[in-house]
Amino acid sequence: MSQFNPNATIDDFLSFLKENGIARAWWVFDHKNNQIIASHEALSPLTDHFRSEMPDFDRHEGIFLQIGPETGTLQGVFVHHTNRGQAAGGTRFWFYDRIEDFLFDGIRLSKGMTYKNALANLWWGGGKGVIAMPSNQDRNNPAFRKTLYREYAEFVTSLKGCYVTAEDVGTLPEDMDTIYSATRFTTCIPEEKGGSGNPSKLTGVGVARAMKGALDALKMNGIAGKTVSVQGSGHVARFMTEELLKKGVKKVLLHDIFQSSLDSAKAMFGPEPRVEYRLIENGDMSPLFENADVVSPCATGGTLNDDTIPRIQAPVIAGGANNQLKEEARHAKMLHERGIVYTPDFLDNRMGIVNCANEQYGYVDDDPAIYKHLNYEWENAIYVLTKKIVLDSQISGMTTYEQALHLTQKKMQEAHPIWGNRSREIIRSLIEDK
Ligand code: NAD
Repeated sequence: MSQFNPNATIDDFLSFLKENGIARAWWVFDHKNNQIIASHEALSPLTDHFRSEMPDFDRHEGIFLQIGPETGTLQGVFVHHTNRGQAAGGTRFWFYDRIEDFLFDGIRLSKGMTYKNALANLWWGGGKGVIAMPSNQDRNNPAFRKTLYREYAEFVTSLKGCYVTAEDVGTLPEDMDTIYSATRFTTCIPEEKGGSGNPSKLTGVGVARAMKGALDALKMNGIAGKTVSVQGSGHVARFMTEELLKKGVKKVLLHDIFQSSLDSAKAMFGPEPRVEYRLIENGDMSPLFENADVVSPCATGGTLNDDTIPRIQAPVIAGGANNQLKEEARHAKMLHERGIVYTPDFLDNRMGIVNCANEQYGYVDDDPAIYKHLNYEWENAIYVLTKKIVLDSQISGMTTYEQALHLTQKKMQEAHPIWGNRSREIIRSLIEDK
């Protein structure tokens, strides 16, 4: 591969970097001259690709790649927008068929983190780490993972704090421990080391609050007596189900492509008759088409798209997965036109980051800084805000996505009250240091 090809596999792209003598690469957005600058001339086709072929590329302040010095894996840090503070967001360790998919995920997820952090009133910008699962390694091998996450953490350290990492899909609590051993720029540190641990429980409760907000806005009277069809039965889905059961849900249909995940859910709920377990094939989108009151995407992104939207019957969508809309504005509009209320994912699943983002400030019991997001009174709580966004969208005719984005974009303009735009300064100094 002598030229950049978006359809190239990750291995081909790694070879392309190596052929060009590139171990680390970056792109930064030069705000003064309104242009993207790349670290190497050989990367200019990719720079053009960001500009012209990737509508989700949104003047990202910095994109940094490295080839893992020992593991040879492709690792990326995507910094979207840092007015409100250092870019914060988890690290995803996932399988990518094509380099385009890897870049797309980093670009989309980091943007989503900017929205999520701003709408939650957190003084953090938006960023994401992405590591491509290698084709030639056993990803479950503990020694491999230790090396991988140590070298990734050293990469994060080298970025001087413009990005602060956390847990995300594919990254485990023990990996966070390894990360913490090699960088201070991380959250989601294990509880025994003074961190906040796994955020999934509060994320699940948060999604249930968004669900209630939408149902109440539609005068459907909360969660009691409702049927909820869930795509995925992982951590967020299970804790959400636990909360829905407490609130009197009639039925939860849990779908997963792995029996092991359904078994973990079964172990959690015992003989509870209101939960039904369904094993499905990978690619089977039928959980979204159930005749339910709510469908809840709690697996991967992009599931709300041209193929699925016309077949959705439920009046409400509320789930934990990131980037549910394949194309944000267009697919939000399709749902809106079908009269389906979509609750924006960057509002629904904010508790993951709320739980860990400020852990360096310590904790108090039932921490109000965290739990206020789950109450029913605070104007910025998930329930209150979801209800407001749905009601406002009914009046304005805007989609719920646009309505939420409108609020978010105002907050994104506010600079950190103490540190101003320090992360952009950090990125500038990184580039000067080459
Ligand atoms: P998880 O890995 O524990 O669960 C995901 C589950 O989805 C797995 O059981 C997997 O087998 C299943 N799955 C994958 N593809 C599927 C498909 N096509 N159909 C049905 N099931 C499928 O992950 P999680 O922590 O529960 O996170 C779920 C989603 O929520 C992710 O998109 C994640 O980014 C997002 N999220 C999680 C948190 C958190 O606190 N864990 C916070 C914010 C956002």
